[in-house]
Amino acid sequence: MKYLPVFLDITITPCLVVGGGVVAARKVEQLRKANAQVIVVAPKLCPALSALADNQLITYICSDFNEDNLQEKTLVIAATDDAAVNKRISELAKERNLPVNVVDNPELCSFIMPSVVDRDPVQIAISTGGASPVLARLLRGRLESLIPSSYGNLAQLMQKFRNAVKAKYPDMQHRRRYWENVLQGPIAEMIYVGQQKKALSALEKTLSDDADTINKTGEVYLVGAGPGDPDLLTFRALRLMQQAEVVLYDRLVAPVIVDLCRKDAERIYVGKKRNQHALPQEDISQLLVDLAKQGKRVLRLKGGDPFIFGRGGEEIELLAAEHIPFQVIPGVTAASGCASYAGIPLTHRDYAHTCVFITGHLKDGSTDLNWETLIQPKQTIVVYMGVMGLELFCRELITRGLPNTMPAALIQRGTTPQQKVHIGDLATLPEISKQHDIKPPTMIIIGEVVKLHESLSWFEPPA
Ligand code: SAH
Repeated sequence: MKYLPVFLDITITPCLVVGGGVVAARKVEQLRKANAQVIVVAPKLCPALSALADNQLITYICSDFNEDNLQEKTLVIAATDDAAVNKRISELAKERNLPVNVVDNPELCSFIMPSVVDRDPVQIAISTGGASPVLARLLRGRLESLIPSSYGNLAQLMQKFRNAVKAKYPDMQHRRRYWENVLQGPIAEMIYVGQQKKALSALEKTLSDDADTINKTGEVYLVGAGPGDPDLLTFRALRLMQQAEVVLYDRLVAPVIVDLCRKDAERIYVGKKRNQHALPQEDISQLLVDLAKQGKRVLRLKGGDPFIFGRGGEEIELLAAEHIPFQVIPGVTAASGCASYAGIPLTHRDYAHTCVFITGHLKDGSTDLNWETLIQPKQTIVVYMGVMGLELFCRELITRGLPNTMPAALIQRGTTPQQKVHIGDLATLPEISKQHDIKPPTMIIIGEVVKLHESLSWFEPPA
């Protein structure tokens, strides 16, 4: 190992940066984050550094580098564009045993600066030993997507309760298990979604209760899985999918997405199979409650977004009534997924100022829609679950005033390798649907914006 990873406390210590360009500015920013007192030496400054100097957030010495600049400094960073000057700074600093970093030149450095995933106070520093800063940056990108952005708040909470937990669990083993449960359970999740107060009182409760309740509290994640392409999952969805012990999913969730769940998770199919009925809604809600009460982390995966024609609200009503912790994770709804992958912008300054999402299939089986609002000009209509009633729907729109030449699109299995897009108008769409034997899941988009498909289409599913 060529380098020893360390974390330096440089609070209010004088650190020298030689150079006034954007590269120097980046280093200054890092030093300032660690509360250093930054001195910049350069004949001129880039706008970002000028602004800092004007606001006295750095000390600026307007001149070329001079050996005296090194006096009484804790560390030095050379970021000039003159290789000879950088080399001289490195030599002089090394003579004084002063830690020195020369930007983009590991040979001249006595320390190098890592790529950092910053979840203050949690810091993850990544180094490739100077071999490839690009690789370090890519790795950082991966970690950024894995670690919740409020991880730091979790660390702060732990810090706050450290002594109390130590008092309650003097035994190290117990204490460790306690913290592991907290960090992987509902309390951590509360922190990630910004429920600080709730997390605090839940943690207090675990310490005041005689019994160790934390093991017994399950929770439910109602997660939007998007329209089909697994790349459209959110970071949070993926993290929870890899955390939950039980997964409830239905037909609309693509198998490639279900596969991303934890390998050992129990998978429960609650959708319709051919000739069979789906589990009634009440049964799904009850199942969620029962599993959570067994202390399980339960993931309810729904196609698209759970709160858009997804009965998400109905499924969590019972959880709320039973005081079971839950969270709802939005997903890319089929309307935006299909529109994007078909090259049909849902709004456009020339063609559509409003966009309505409707379902062609209501709870009581009727299509009792507010037709007046649907036939407004400069509006896009997006119909979920509309294949069955398509003919009637198009006819009603024409009868009530929309031109029969209004462009319309059918997007079947949008965002997936099986995506098919058919373009027509209000008059021809029902026939097109019959001809191609269109089946759900299919999205219908009606409006002038559909014309843009011809020029904006980009997604090419494999043939
Ligand atoms: N909650 C979901 C919608 C569920 S309703 C969401 O936000 O997307 C089910 C309807 O959504 C289907 O009948 C179909 O109209 C539409 N749909 C869902 N996924 C789709 C896909 N990949 N392609 C086309 N339509 C889709």
